[in-house]
Amino acid sequence: MLRHSLIDKISPTLIKQYSYCPVIVWMQVWLSVQEPLTDSMAIGKESTKPPEGRGQLYISTNKGATIIDEILEKDNHKVLVERKAYKSHNYSRYVEQVVTSYIIIREKIPGIRKVRLIVQGSERELELSEDLIKDIENIAKLVEETMRSEKPPAIRPDPKKCVSCWYKRYCPHY
Ligand code: SF4
Repeated sequence: MLRHSLIDKISPTLIKQYSYCPVIVWMQVWLSVQEPLTDSMAIGKESTKPPEGRGQLYISTNKGATIIDEILEKDNHKVLVERKAYKSHNYSRYVEQVVTSYIIIREKIPGIRKVRLIVQGSERELELSEDLIKDIENIAKLVEETMRSEKPPAIRPDPKKCVSCWYKRYCPHY
């Protein structure tokens, strides 16, 4: 059954999963399947907790909900910090995820001009340009279209991804 509440708001996790494979997003909505938390995911969550005294923030707005690792004050602006325990072959997924969080919170927490990704201790800062934000908003529209469609996305599966994909047991393309 289609979960409309998911469609009304954008989700950083869904944006990241869509970038990995759009079929995953479709299956989560239409087949109501969800990968359980693995040991490595749990270890990753634990290892990316913010430093002592700087707790994570759960922020919910009319755009969606997200968990923010940290917001730093720097000169005359703010920096949104996202930590990742593992490197990814597709770094842009992490960028899409953190920019989605920014889109969710920007009206509630004004003054954020940059995002800082800390992946396995290696830092990279990105300016929140209009183009970057527009790109992510466009991906959010594609996610919404995928969630609304009764048919799974017509993609050509990538065997390298499929072999390690938990969702392959339900996947219409596998
Ligand atoms: S098995 Fe392959 S096509 Fe299916 S959801 Fe996973 S990655 Fe995508």
